Amino acid sequence: MKLKELPIEFEEALPLLEKIKDAGFEAYFVGGSVRDVLLGRPIHDVDIATSSYPEETKAIFERTVDVGIEHGTVLVLENGHEYEMTTFRTEDVYVDYRRPSSVSFVRSLKEDLKRRDFTVNAFALNEDREVIDLFDGLKDLENRLLRAVGKAQERFNEDALRIMRGIRFSASLDFDIEKETLLSMSACAPLLEKISVERSFIEFDKLLMAPHWSKGLSALIATGAYDYLPELQGTASKWQEFQEVIEKDYHFLSSEQAWAAMMIVLEIKQPQAFLKKWKTSVQFQKKVSQMVDVFKARQSSELTSWQVYQYGKTLIHEVEDLRSAFGMMANVERLVTLDRELLIHDKHEIVVNGGILISELGMKPGPDLGRILNQVEEAIVNGHLANDKLAIFDFIKNMT
Ligand code: ATP
Ligand code: MG
Repeated sequence: MKLKELPIEFEEALPLLEKIKDAGFEAYFVGGSVRDVLLGRPIHDVDIATSSYPEETKAIFERTVDVGIEHGTVLVLENGHEYEMTTFRTEDVYVDYRRPSSVSFVRSLKEDLKRRDFTVNAFALNEDREVIDLFDGLKDLENRLLRAVGKAQERFNEDALRIMRGIRFSASLDFDIEKETLLSMSACAPLLEKISVERSFIEFDKLLMAPHWSKGLSALIATGAYDYLPELQGTASKWQEFQEVIEKDYHFLSSEQAWAAMMIVLEIKQPQAFLKKWKTSVQFQKKVSQMVDVFKARQSSELTSWQVYQYGKTLIHEVEDLRSAFGMMANVERLVTLDRELLIHDKHEIVVNGGILISELGMKPGPDLGRILNQVEEAIVNGHLANDKLAIFDFIKNMT
């Protein structure tokens, strides 16, 4: 199949393919971007595969950066863009069901395409705009099917992360998973325990953030993959509930918000501990927990100035939006008003601090001073006290 038109990102990169060809090698656009072009979706990175070995690639281009020579990848800087150029390779022996023990560079495109995970991810596109389709990926694309390249069971045995990738591609592309592929994903699901948690997190997160997350969750349930992911053993019915209670067309606004929804539906008592098992950052854990706290508080009361001050407008907005995804009333108007009426948005905006109270009111440093400052902060946030030095002094004098 020959394409009439290419997106600008590919057009701009065509001279690179020509250059490699002129040097006596082969080069193709490969990977997800070729798939996305065929689906009429926007592309986000142009990956190039070539028969030239890394040293040969470096000799062809003026400006290159070694980013992963051991995997055959050289970054080429041309016309203001960066392109990852990777030597055709095969992945030899897999140890531990993850990551190959070594990669071998080869001169054959076919060998390179064979190691790729799904038929729709295994296209190559040459400088004549011709699509090379060795595994009937075009047919699968037409039928919107995700099918493993080669023997499915072997492929998931080699690298169990492909199971999570398959689930998230079904969510991002809105594709069904071909029967044999799905059966093999289920059969190999226990191997997910061998995959690094960080890599599983990335795929799970992409699944939740995808427009068709509900479809991805169906694949998660069908494969039983959840049973081999941190803290998710036996959660099939919870995922069904997730699909039922959250509006199907809802797009999560951020990863934190998506994981907060998960904490809520799965009734996770300690989100922070749960997310620690997923090896997320402390910052991420904190934000998700805060969202869960606000969401729960909102089930029995209206938003308060203190919440808006404490957590910030963006986080609360995401909570309100999540409420609407759950079919509850969101009160964005109140949020906007409360935020607008806040006299301060940060402690440091208060016109007095401990130092001033010590020097001007003769107060003593210590826990009492801290408590007084907290009360001042609360009174200002709640609109009971002006952020004015004399008013604050008066307030403090009346306290004692
Ligand atoms: P996205 O649109 O999310 O970037 P992608 O298909 O480009 O999706 P990448 O993770 O960027 O996915 O990988 C680029 C290509 O490398 C894939 O299309 C696939 O051909 C191959 N690939 C990546 N990871 C694997 C894997 N674990 N096993 C086999 N092939 C893989
Ligand atoms: Mg990609």
